Amino acid sequence: MATLSLTMIDVGWGDSLLLEFENDAGDVSFGLVDSNDTTSLRSSYIYLKRFFERRDLFRNRPRLFDFVLLSHAHADHAQGVKALIQEFGTEWFWYPRSLNWSGAAYLLEYANRSATRSGGRIGRHQAVDSGHMAPAIQGTRLDFLWPDKGFLDHDNENENSVILSLTLGDVAFVLTGDAEAEAWSRVAGRIPGNTAVFKVPHHGSRNGFFDGGGAPLWLDACPAKTQCGISSHIRPFSHPDRSVVKRLAKRRVFRTDEHDHVTFTTNGSSVGVKYSHKGTERSRPSQRARIRCGMRRASGLVRRASACGNQQCREEQTCKWNRGMPRRPRRRARRMAFWATSPSATW
Ligand SMILES: [Zn+2]
Ligand SMILES: [Zn+2]
Repeated sequence: MATLSLTMIDVGWGDSLLLEFENDAGDVSFGLVDSNDTTSLRSSYIYLKRFFERRDLFRNRPRLFDFVLLSHAHADHAQGVKALIQEFGTEWFWYPRSLNWSGAAYLLEYANRSATRSGGRIGRHQAVDSGHMAPAIQGTRLDFLWPDKGFLDHDNENENSVILSLTLGDVAFVLTGDAEAEAWSRVAGRIPGNTAVFKVPHHGSRNGFFDGGGAPLWLDACPAKTQCGISSHIRPFSHPDRSVVKRLAKRRVFRTDEHDHVTFTTNGSSVGVKYSHKGTERSRPSQRARIRCGMRRASGLVRRASACGNQQCREEQTCKWNRGMPRRPRRRARRMAFWATSPSATW
């Protein structure tokens, strides 16, 4: 069965998206959109290294990615891209025509050198726009929705973000970079009607969501059932903005600052989501629920699975209402305990 998976890697702040394509025969391919690794913080690298090692793919493939896409030339999307390509290799390196960033020259020089050398880590590289035809990957169709040919914003690099839609069967995922009002005024009408997963642009900031008059830029063009993913950028920008979170309250929203790594998977008809940490903001229990399922001690409320009246808590060996209270388990332990699969949503 053919599948398409999108993982928003929790890199602390900024974007890093892993794509996995599988066809009916079980052949798999991979794509990467953006990275935000520094020399000391290498979240994408560590995640990808473990991911590929678990699958024992290093020995068989000289280039692990079919493509690496740089959505736009901002540090929180481009840092570490070169190092990841050097480590894993890619058949294609795609980027927007505008690369107004000091590191872009080094990246393109490396791409040029690599592509002209036999066995280089980059097979070919190319600037892409909405007229670019990308080959289907293991049954998934790729469409570049933005930027249009000839469009260039010299003042706001976010507007030059590549917007990519991926379609398998009846389901589309849309990746949006940091596109803002100018881009959405032209491209909102191109959002596929079968969009099931939409990566909220610009980390859920106001200028990626509202126009100057306070009207939503793309929300009305997204089908009501669309699930949203946010690659958060809390420090120093406080993205996502509270007003954006509020407007998305009726939709299923998954955020890297709350759910850590988030994976959406589709077989072309339904969509499932998996995440490595349960969110806190929207699942915070009422005070009544906290008291009902906790034990009171001198140091405050302590949650224990054995003391909790909730059957699910006992099965998971931990109480689901324990977040935000004293004596909470360490983050790592909590992450291990709460690796969870939410119910699939039929599309
Ligand atoms: Zn960004
Ligand atoms: Zn940006």
